[in-house]
Amino acid sequence: SQLEARVQVATAELAEQNEKLRRQAIQLEQASAAKSQFLANMSHEFRTPLNAILGYTNMLLQGVSGELTPSQKRNLTRIDSNGRHLLEVINEILDITRIEAGRMPLHLSDFAIPELLQEVMAELDPIIARSKLAVSTELGARLPAVHSDRQKVKQVVLNLLSNALKFTHEGSVTVRAEYVPATSTLTIAVTDTGIGIDPAHQEKIFEDFQQVDSSPTRAYGGTGLGLSICRRLATMLGGRVTLQSAPGQGSTFTLHFPRRARRA
Ligand code: ADP
Repeated sequence: SQLEARVQVATAELAEQNEKLRRQAIQLEQASAAKSQFLANMSHEFRTPLNAILGYTNMLLQGVSGELTPSQKRNLTRIDSNGRHLLEVINEILDITRIEAGRMPLHLSDFAIPELLQEVMAELDPIIARSKLAVSTELGARLPAVHSDRQKVKQVVLNLLSNALKFTHEGSVTVRAEYVPATSTLTIAVTDTGIGIDPAHQEKIFEDFQQVDSSPTRAYGGTGLGLSICRRLATMLGGRVTLQSAPGQGSTFTLHFPRRARRA
């Protein structure tokens, strides 16, 4: 019948569309993989000469080629700090391309949260000591051992705590770990009494290169990549990062992740 014929035509058209979409999806995936590979190669190629530049700059700063005038010293210090900023950007782009290309696999193990937080505190101790902030750790009752990727959990907490220290001028920074039995989830919350974040920026700052202030005259260093890396790492752990903040009052960034991570 006529109806059947029409249905047949429509079905054939749909199948054709489907095939077209499938091919487009493959092309997009290939383009995205090529982009990641290009960025990874480029970052890698940038690192070697940059490390040489930084090495020679530091030799000059240490006076190996003779005494420096104050203005020579100032200019070399600028080369050094700009070079280090560039190195940070490159390393973070490498992290992102590794994650996107699936080249940062999960390494699961059993570990305890208190020791991990101690390590994070120890690594940031020089900054904490300079900050004059009251920095403390709080452990919830009955924190179980977790089965997850220790290095990734640590990287997220390091990043959130570094930010809290950077954007807080007075008051306190607290890291609180808790277990939520109802969902078998752990939370590690980093609370600061710092500058806070306007609601209009609260989602944006999790995107690549997004900073509340990215003007050349901005008061804070950084690359705008830290939180986007945190978000990707949290996703790999099967978790997420949430934010509560009020401008002028402070912020709480919380990493939520399952007690037992599952292989992707
Ligand atoms: P970076 O710190 O290198 O700029 P991030 O991705 O870690 O990059 O953070 C992005 C932006 O989010 C920061 O530039 C800052 O504007 C805002 N931000 C992050 N953490 C805090 C915090 N604890 N308090 C206030 N603002 C923050």
